[in-house]
Amino acid sequence: NTALIAVEGLTKTYPGANGARVKAVSEVSFAIAPGEVLGVVGESGCGKSTLGRALLRLIEPDGGAIRFDGKDLMTLSKSGMKAARRDLQIVFQDPFGSLNPRHTVGGIIGEPLVVHGIGTSDSRRARVAELLGLVGLPEDAGKRFPHEFSGGQRQRIAIARALALEPKLIVADEAVSALDVSIQSQIINLIADLRRRLGLSILFISHDLSVIRHVSDRIAVMYLGRIVEIGPAEAIMESPRHPYTQALLSAIPRPGEGRARQRTVLKGELPDPANPPTGCAFHTRCPMAMPVCSADRPALVRREGGVADVACHLYEAA
Ligand code: SF4
Ligand code: MG
Repeated sequence: NTALIAVEGLTKTYPGANGARVKAVSEVSFAIAPGEVLGVVGESGCGKSTLGRALLRLIEPDGGAIRFDGKDLMTLSKSGMKAARRDLQIVFQDPFGSLNPRHTVGGIIGEPLVVHGIGTSDSRRARVAELLGLVGLPEDAGKRFPHEFSGGQRQRIAIARALALEPKLIVADEAVSALDVSIQSQIINLIADLRRRLGLSILFISHDLSVIRHVSDRIAVMYLGRIVEIGPAEAIMESPRHPYTQALLSAIPRPGEGRARQRTVLKGELPDPANPPTGCAFHTRCPMAMPVCSADRPALVRREGGVADVACHLYEAA
């Protein structure tokens, strides 16, 4: 098995009303190869951020296994997990909230080196200068403060900090979602470039399929805490098979396509995660739903005639 990270049956529940447990993430399994980008897409509340945080054990999963770079993360002690986080970093959506306003940018980027006791103050200063260059910021940025920078530049600072320890995997959670569209594409290009130059693996989380498709080798689509379709990015974008993926895709404009394109409008609201529908959780909104759909949950498996794993009764298991 050559995966850098392999997640098996990951589950995270939260306490809900009346003592019920809300399953934010249910039995999620996937793997990411070295240097690969897996995009995770789904509506807000589908569990994708919980998944990202659970991977680093920033929140504790209830069950499942996470094998990362030969280690079983679920069994690591606190100090073992701290060591593992050198190789496993996260970049959040809001670079205002995640950058300490009282610290210089150089101090912020170099902080992980200090925390992990790496290098001397001279070597750390040199490394910070290198990191600033890597993310396209001027060297004197290190002496300035976060509020002096635009949103896009602050996200470059957050990325530089995430790269300080030379991680193998970065979780990017809505890392460009707070930015203007033109700035979004600059940061996406930066991430794509860094991934090529550094051989990074990335779990790229976004509610926006038009963002996900630009960076991902493979795409996982989540609905109510579960992956409903996962496969190569071209297959997901060109011939999505799960009706939910089709609906997400129909909502984004595509270059070269006229207005003839038909938009699938999902009926109804996203169901309450505390009380998910039986069977296929999508059946309350699915335009293709059949009687079997509310009775049996379809397995996420490879389906006949396709290259993706799809959790849908419309297709025979391959
Ligand atoms: Fe729709 Fe049924 Fe497929 Fe679920 S299993 S996506 S309800 S057709
Ligand atoms: Mg989120």
